[in-house]
Amino acid sequence: MTKKLYYESTHIREWETRIIHKLEREDGTYLVMEETAFYPHGGGQPCDLGWIDKIPVLDVVQVEGEILHKVERFPEKEEVGCRLDWNRRFDHMQHHSGQHLLSAICLEVCQAETLSFHLGQDYATIDIARSDLPQDQLMMLELEVNDQVYLNRKITNYVVSREQAAALPLVKQPKVTDDIRIVEIEGIEYNACGGTHVSATGEIGMIKLLRAEKQKGHMRLYFKCGYRALKEFNAGMEILGSLSVRFNTAKEEILDRIAKWDQEQKQLQAELNVVKAENDAYLAGKLLAERQGSLIKHVFADKPLKDMQNLADKLTEEAEVIVLFVSTADQKVVLAQGGQSGLACGAFFKQYLADYRGKGGGSDKIAQAGFATGEDAMAFYHFAAQSLS
Ligand SMILES: [Zn+2]
Repeated sequence: MTKKLYYESTHIREWETRIIHKLEREDGTYLVMEETAFYPHGGGQPCDLGWIDKIPVLDVVQVEGEILHKVERFPEKEEVGCRLDWNRRFDHMQHHSGQHLLSAICLEVCQAETLSFHLGQDYATIDIARSDLPQDQLMMLELEVNDQVYLNRKITNYVVSREQAAALPLVKQPKVTDDIRIVEIEGIEYNACGGTHVSATGEIGMIKLLRAEKQKGHMRLYFKCGYRALKEFNAGMEILGSLSVRFNTAKEEILDRIAKWDQEQKQLQAELNVVKAENDAYLAGKLLAERQGSLIKHVFADKPLKDMQNLADKLTEEAEVIVLFVSTADQKVVLAQGGQSGLACGAFFKQYLADYRGKGGGSDKIAQAGFATGEDAMAFYHFAAQSLS
């Protein structure tokens, strides 16, 4: 049986050992070694990665008590040098110990048990037995848990018998019945857990609660510890820095600047609406004056659909006309009439649109359609103009 170095010390990152077993499984090549510090998947903690004689370790699994190391290929010699991807392992230790501490303080401060723990590449979460968690409680929890980090409480782990375990105030009853591994945070909790942990709460570093989210009747807390929390802070600072440059102001002034900018946008929009209305009135007069028969048609380079519809409404209200517009940039066509012409705009579109790869429809009074290309829109526009004049 392999000696599990990660239980002797979680800080072993390099060691020498011997391969005792090589096996080919369906999904790859695996090694068993005399001693290993590679932690397999388990207890919510992902496996370690690293190198065996400089050959990358791709996965570590525990099968019937054996630790199997999936490797790219077998090393040439039986005697091998091993090295953990320490950044990955330390990140797992910071988050696993961070989770124990957070869950313990959450139980104390929010009276909420932890239901599950997820540690992934992108985020770490716990689900807690609460249907909501107001922001002020979240902040209180964050302060309390960080207080315990700064107290630098010892974290130890040891094996006890079933009888000894029964005498301890364990967070949860363990699934295993003998050789129960206990992770103790001094003065905080006893937890039956087989994971790898830091040796004092100070090593966890800052525990940052990012947000709380409702999740099927309970709350999910997103958190980051140690280096991940630092990275999060740096990413946030980078965004703030860019905004600072963009708005040419100190970061404390950015929100005021955005509020002001919002106000200016609203003002500009209002002014634009007035100009548009004036322009429409002028254009309506011009189109009415220039019309031949009852059809008014016009090609716009780029007029939004909404604006074409408004102008068409205005024209059909003012005179007994049929209005046909196209906007080539938007690839949209609008057809409208005041109700006296006997034309059913929607039905007309339904009948002919497919021939021009157009999609749309509408009522008897007004219809609109979109086309795949500007050419299709123009072709339909010419066809409709021909048919309706
Ligand atoms: Zn654990």
